[in-house]
Formats: sequence, C-alpha cells, structure tokens
Amino acid sequence: MKDYEKLQKDCINELRHLGIKLGSISAWKINNRAKSRWGLCQMNSDGTYSIEIAYRLLSDDNISEKACKETIIHELLHTCKGCMRHTGKWKYYAEVVNQVYGYNIKRITQGYEKGVENYSVNEMSIKYIFTCGKCGATIYRKRESKFTQNYKYYGCARCGAIAWSKKSVG
Ligand SMILES: [Zn+2]
Ligand SMILES: [Zn+2]
Repeated sequence: MKDYEKLQKDCINELRHLGIKLGSISAWKINNRAKSRWGLCQMNSDGTYSIEIAYRLLSDDNISEKACKETIIHELLHTCKGCMRHTGKWKYYAEVVNQVYGYNIKRITQGYEKGVENYSVNEMSIKYIFTCGKCGATIYRKRESKFTQNYKYYGCARCGAIAWSKKSVG
C-alpha cells in the first residue's frame, strides 16, 4: 500500500517547484466504487477542488509509485486556472512536468501503461454516454435512471455547467 498523503505532498512540491500555481484542494478521496477512471478532479461550489484517485493505484503493487503520481499530478493540474480541459494550459503544464521529471502524463492513460490490465467500464453493457458540453466530462450509464431521463436539468459535478448531451449506444 502506497502512502497517499506522502504522494500528495511530493506531487504538490514538484509542481510548486516549477512555479505552477495550484487551486486550493479541500478534499483528497479514494474511489473504490466505479472502476471507470484512475482519477477525478471536481470543482466544489466554493471554488475549492476535490481530488479522487482509484483505490487500486494505491493498493496494487504492480502499479509503480511513479504511475500513481502521474494520476495525482494529472488531477492536480486540473485545479490550475483555466485547466479544466485537457487542452491549452493543462496540456502545456503536463508537457513541462513530463519533460522535467520524466513522467508520462496524458489525457487518457491505458491500464497497460500503468503495468496492469485495462481499467475501463464494460463497454458492452453501457446504454448511454453523457458528455458535458463545457468541460468534456463523460458519464456512462448502464440503465435508465432519474439522471438519464432528466439530464438536461443536472449540473456537471466537475465544472457546474448544465450542458449534458446524451448519446444512446448499442
Ligand atoms: Zn483529466
Ligand atoms: Zn462539465
């Protein structure tokens, strides 16, 4: 088991060292529910951020500390001003960090790049894909629910926009 708090501090220090100004992070979470993503960064209503990483990154010894830090830094960079999307400044910062520290931070990281099997939702069972028109966040749903029926009234947990578009699959 990796030391989550130590990794957080190390990552923050590495970014500060490069003069990258991070937003204020009010919560660090571990996600063991949905097995769909390595990490997540959400903006809270007070302007602070919550960062969540997959439990497996910490618990799986086949995943290196470096691979775990790559996810943490990926999410930390989302807290910078104008960095909600994986373009522009976020992309620039990721490139700088990769060059200086030898990381491989990307928009999407496949499981094999972390040394393990792919970590994706079972695509066969997905019925709907929702995409936030503002920040590009994606939500997968396997069945009909309040959200799938009333998505037009739901805000994006990441950026707060009410801009979901729905795509039916299969
Ligand atoms: Zn991201
Ligand atoms: Zn959004």
